[in-house]
Amino acid sequence: MPEKYWPETIILWGAGATKSLGLHATSELIELVFKTIQNDFSFLKGKDKHLAKYFKKLITYDLVEDEKLAEIYDLKALEIIMNTNTKFNIHDLFTMMDQLINNNKGFNAFFEGKAKFLRVERIRGAKRCLVLIIEELERISVQDKPGYFDKSKIEPYFKLSKILTQLMVEEAKEFDKRGYKRDTRKFYLYSYGIISFNWDPVLLWNLYNAHKEENIKKIELHDGITLQLFNDFGTQVAIDRRNSNDSEIYYGIDESTCKGVNDDNYPSRILREGKLLFPHGMFGSRICPECGKSILSFSENCSRLSTEAFGPSILKELQKNWNYKTEKEKMYKRGAIECPYCGQITYPYDMPIIMQTLEKDTNILSLYEIKMEMGLLMKNAKHIVFLGYSLPMDDIMVKTFFMSSIAANDKKNLKCTVINHDKNYIGSEKWLEGKDIINYINNSQNKSTVQCIKNICNMFDIQNVRVSLKGIPDIFMENGNCSMEKVIDLLYPKKYFKEGFPIKR
Ligand SMILES: [Zn+2]
Repeated sequence: MPEKYWPETIILWGAGATKSLGLHATSELIELVFKTIQNDFSFLKGKDKHLAKYFKKLITYDLVEDEKLAEIYDLKALEIIMNTNTKFNIHDLFTMMDQLINNNKGFNAFFEGKAKFLRVERIRGAKRCLVLIIEELERISVQDKPGYFDKSKIEPYFKLSKILTQLMVEEAKEFDKRGYKRDTRKFYLYSYGIISFNWDPVLLWNLYNAHKEENIKKIELHDGITLQLFNDFGTQVAIDRRNSNDSEIYYGIDESTCKGVNDDNYPSRILREGKLLFPHGMFGSRICPECGKSILSFSENCSRLSTEAFGPSILKELQKNWNYKTEKEKMYKRGAIECPYCGQITYPYDMPIIMQTLEKDTNILSLYEIKMEMGLLMKNAKHIVFLGYSLPMDDIMVKTFFMSSIAANDKKNLKCTVINHDKNYIGSEKWLEGKDIINYINNSQNKSTVQCIKNICNMFDIQNVRVSLKGIPDIFMENGNCSMEKVIDLLYPKKYFKEGFPIKR
């Protein structure tokens, strides 16, 4: 069989990767949701006054007093459900709600001294409210001034994206020199792919801007044809350009475009693309309730420091930079995005966000498609990098999915890098390997990090695992700057890719 080409290095991007920006891990999120529904806003101390004020207003006024909003996002029902068990973790809570909804069942709760029955419509409302609160908590967590990221905190992520993009230019030039055919995967597919288990668009937004900066430079290949770089989402996504006034539909560049455009017989420009998958969905994206298409909204000329990529909030004050574009959006507001295909209005609850719950969810076709693609990436990878993703093995779906994806891969050759965080180790430049890993597991007091490393070592051959506890972004920083050498060592270490970077295909 002829050789198949897939990205050699797969990055699994998780909550630990964006912690330094203020984004919360799922365990923290559930605590904050508990506090929020009890009107305990002590966690907003130190937050920008404007953001804190309007987050409180959303919870205590808009979701209570505005009858329409209160019916859609049923805060009271969420409070009743969550109060039945203060030990709920986020997986349990989502799974329980999904089970009730899918079985068309209500919920009987003992609340404030008496039994209270919630019909299934209210469970749906409670789930919408839970997703909304999570989204709003994450949205304000990254905002420094209203509408903007903290410049110094976001900078390492942009620099990382710049370096990743520059590496892919270098790779293109080398592959071109080697004569890899431009309309084949061997040439156009990036040697790295990213699977983001986060809902936030931080990485996508930064990569998008880094690609844009590089594409403007008109990089030429050896015969003078211009190279351009893009991301592929693993499913067809319509891009609604916020800055243009036409109602035209734009698409992301996917593999079929690369193949067509890179055809030698019709030279115009040459495209390359990297896989960037969001198997759990993403804030700001929508599935149209009428035509079922996936939509992403992007403003091409907005500042890269703007938090606009998180999409519109139902309260204007919580997403300052967002502008409603069409007549319909201006009329409906409250997070409205008009579907570029059919003109239907979509709202934040049309956001395809899922938790990896036990309830099988194949209704969201695009997420199902992404999940299939993700399985293929994992199965064909040569090197898997856990970048802040901690592999929650208590989630049986995650466990079985990983096991079955990796099962087809040759364990003897599959390499693994784990980046986690332990403040007692952050100074160390050393990679923990073999005995050092076992020593760490046996002696460290840092339970969650130990558990994460243990879970991963149970799935991979420990001889093929290396661990760093420097955390993110420190793992790719040197003297306060993002270092290309360190990024190469992270993704394409000589130990795993003998010929170094650019790798051999
Ligand atoms: Zn539509």
